[in-house]
Amino acid sequence: MNQGKPGEVTRGNCKEKIKESVWDKALKQLEDTARRINIEPGALEILKVPRRCLVVSVPIRRDDGQIEVFTGYRVQHNFTRGPAKGGIRYHPDVTLDLVKALAMWMTWKCAVVNIPYGGAKGAVACNPKKLSPSELERLTRRYTSAILPIIGPEKDIPAPDMGTNAQVMAWIMDTYSINQGYSVPAVVTGKPIEVGGSLGRDKATARGCLYTVMDAAKKLDFTLEERTMAVQGYGNVGRNMAELSTGQGCRIIGVSDINGGLYNPKGIDITRLSRYVDEAGTVFGFTDADSITNAELLELECDILVPAAVEHQITEKNAPRLKARMIAEGANGPTTSEADEILDDKGIFVIPDILANAGGVTVSYFEWVQGIQAYFWSEREVNLRLREVMERAFEDVYRLSQKEKVSMRQAANMLAVSRVAEACRLRGLYP
Ligand code: GLU
Repeated sequence: MNQGKPGEVTRGNCKEKIKESVWDKALKQLEDTARRINIEPGALEILKVPRRCLVVSVPIRRDDGQIEVFTGYRVQHNFTRGPAKGGIRYHPDVTLDLVKALAMWMTWKCAVVNIPYGGAKGAVACNPKKLSPSELERLTRRYTSAILPIIGPEKDIPAPDMGTNAQVMAWIMDTYSINQGYSVPAVVTGKPIEVGGSLGRDKATARGCLYTVMDAAKKLDFTLEERTMAVQGYGNVGRNMAELSTGQGCRIIGVSDINGGLYNPKGIDITRLSRYVDEAGTVFGFTDADSITNAELLELECDILVPAAVEHQITEKNAPRLKARMIAEGANGPTTSEADEILDDKGIFVIPDILANAGGVTVSYFEWVQGIQAYFWSEREVNLRLREVMERAFEDVYRLSQKEKVSMRQAANMLAVSRVAEACRLRGLYP
């Protein structure tokens, strides 16, 4: 195997071009879906455009006294089924087009698991690893105050995404609450337990993803015991997926992060690896495994591949070489439309992102409900309810895919867009 070089990731040559096409892909998916279902042309026109896009400048004072101005976004794609919902991403490469696509996908994600929300997404173009904790706090509070007029427990409820965490959510909750004059825990989800977070929220995306893998395994007639898994990304989703799947008897033969990947056909000791990552901040350099690149990780011979990093990792270039039997999309939009067709032809069972990673927003919904009622559930209750929601959503999508003879992705999109379009039809157009 080649040595993975620090900083090496498979993203193609032109970053801007790739991000542009994420929005194109989201639109194309919607148009393709609309052709397959009975949707009014007017409803399609409405759904193609986000309801609101807010772009803000976020000036902060760096620790050295200099002022730096960052760009922040909050896009609300849809409110028809309830308040808008979606995470906030801190990443240097975000653009308005990317945030628009991610917001649209949140609308479909909430509809596919049938929770009463529309979709939104927020972002600040920054590298959070290059900010000190106090700079990160100032950035978060200033960004929150800039988007404050459009968020709220009944309007739009942010949550963590790539580059943000429970602490960032606590600062958002505090900034919003100070401005209201009283505590408003339900303005944001993914908070620390101490300030109204839900038990089970931190691992919920991975847990939901694992539930969909378990349901898919049943349909494909195999058990998870001794199955091989490769996980791209070792953040909240990838790491918890590796840990939880090990608990189900899976053998994790490959993992990676932005710095490169690891491969051990006998199985990587995930407990040791996670301890190593806590210290080193990366999987890179872990012994007891060979170094591989991110590109090689995706092409490993394995039963289950979990892309849990950024969008557009599985492309028409590497899709023909993928050897996994099943792909569970922990990330949002990891597969390009061209790659999708190739995976379909190869007979790889793909659990699409809006289903596979919907566990996070589902437990966010539980957190919001618990916060509004000021009545908190046990972790067991949270996980049982999550199991119920994921099982029903998987079954709904699977049945539709069988009935209409379409892929799981097309079925998930058809189900989601139909639900939103029907809500649009029932509410009618004002005035
Ligand atoms: N950022 C996560 C996602 O993409 C969670 C969103 C939420 O909990 O609102 O699904």
